[in-house]
Amino acid sequence: MTLHTSRRTLLTGLGATALVAPAIAKGLVSWKGNPFSLGVAAGAPAADGFVLWTRLAPEPLAEDGGIAGPSRAIGYEIATDDSMHHIVQRGTALAESEWGYSVHKSIKGLKPGRPYWYRFTSGSASSAIGRAQTLPPHGADKLRFAYFSCSHYEYGYFSAYRHAAYEDPDFGIFLGDYIYEYAEKHPDKHPTVRTHSGGKECETLAEYRARYTQYRLDPNLQFLHQMVPALLTWDDHEVQNDYADKWGEDFQDPAAFLKRRAAAYKAYYEFMPLKPVFSQPHGPNMRLYDRYDFGDLMRLDLIDGRQYRSREACYDHQKAIGQRGGGHVETRGSCPELFEADRSMIGMKQEKWLFDGLATSKARWNVVGNDVTMARLRQKNKDGELGWYTDGWDGYPASRARLMQHVADSKPSNFVAITGDIHSYWANDLKTDFDDPKAPTIGSELIGTSITSYGVPYDVFAQILPDNPHIKFFESRKRGYVSVELTRERMTAKFQTVSDVTDPAATLSTLKTFVVDDGNPGPVEA
Ligand code: FE
Ligand code: CA
Repeated sequence: MTLHTSRRTLLTGLGATALVAPAIAKGLVSWKGNPFSLGVAAGAPAADGFVLWTRLAPEPLAEDGGIAGPSRAIGYEIATDDSMHHIVQRGTALAESEWGYSVHKSIKGLKPGRPYWYRFTSGSASSAIGRAQTLPPHGADKLRFAYFSCSHYEYGYFSAYRHAAYEDPDFGIFLGDYIYEYAEKHPDKHPTVRTHSGGKECETLAEYRARYTQYRLDPNLQFLHQMVPALLTWDDHEVQNDYADKWGEDFQDPAAFLKRRAAAYKAYYEFMPLKPVFSQPHGPNMRLYDRYDFGDLMRLDLIDGRQYRSREACYDHQKAIGQRGGGHVETRGSCPELFEADRSMIGMKQEKWLFDGLATSKARWNVVGNDVTMARLRQKNKDGELGWYTDGWDGYPASRARLMQHVADSKPSNFVAITGDIHSYWANDLKTDFDDPKAPTIGSELIGTSITSYGVPYDVFAQILPDNPHIKFFESRKRGYVSVELTRERMTAKFQTVSDVTDPAATLSTLKTFVVDDGNPGPVEA
């Protein structure tokens, strides 16, 4: 069977606005503005359902979204066709005042492996029609998905999101840096095309909410969420650059930092199509890491590389030299802490969860959606010595070694990491021991570039490629995303790139295509 049934006729088009019909009866809510100004989204798919999301905001740029008072019940409808003629479910969903009038409606009782369409209604207002999708059944043999990371609003237009939507993948996977918390015109040498909200770095709930609102009013991002169901994990900028658990990069008191993290996580939950209850935050804690089985074709483990990680190695050392506490290059001599066995990238509890899932998986493809570079990346410190960058998996070498060895021992079929963060494309072999040239390749890593965020310096990184023979490809000068087609025999990953992030009409091309063949770890250029 194929998942890819006909569903193109919807394409209401970018910039489609909600239908606001005249009030048809007395007593209906009448809205001054469009309450569905932030659009719709689907996510958290299951074989028999998904989560539908919207957030009421008739005046999205007002601090309260133009809405106050108690929670509101709104209507929803689910159909098997894109013109909403064949309704299979309808009911009410709650826009909860304590969650910013966001809706997270968990839908069950649908058929596996097919698209559905949905809309919300409130009084005289209807939302745009969105597309959702259930997970495929056992035996599914084809899947298409795209993955994204690092969409900095100021550095460009989100044309990559638009092109991804027009490619019509079954699912879109967000790997972090969905927003950037930075102040307006964060000072650096890169040109900006538009300006972040608020005039300061996000720290409070109101500031994070305003930032998500700004991003969700972007027509390309809103269109992507309308057309493509989302699977999500985060990286650092959803809270603060290079944070680790309760340690911020600016050496803020951990208790104060946790208050900021609580605000950031709450806003994230409020704006994303995440599972209610399961992912609803409790103060600074929020369960995001999760597992999705696409029949027996793919198991996707979306891991959380920020909330539970050990503090960045030699954090205090950075403070002593007046540097920020985030990622920096350390060497074996400068930072013995780096190699301590009890340090973890994802926390021991999540490691066990991930390892159990890999050991018991019956899936042909075992994909980990991950925020930061998993492969060893020898890079130079300011003295030209090769070392370990403390913010990536290189900063947690014992944790990575446990994962690589577990993959080698438990042999999940076709282990592939898909990764964001580093604003560049990479195709890497994953190895049990990156220091032993004879060590086996046990998996593959395919890193997508950024949607808009400027790349790491090309010349600096091109120079260290000879020190990293497990790296098959690197390109940091292009922005875009990765588009994947998966069959039982092969994973085909297209590195999709946009012509110019400063051009709102940027075009799309394929920079490179890498394949991983079943049973043959390591990406190969097609
Ligand atoms: Fe980023
Ligand atoms: Ca990042």
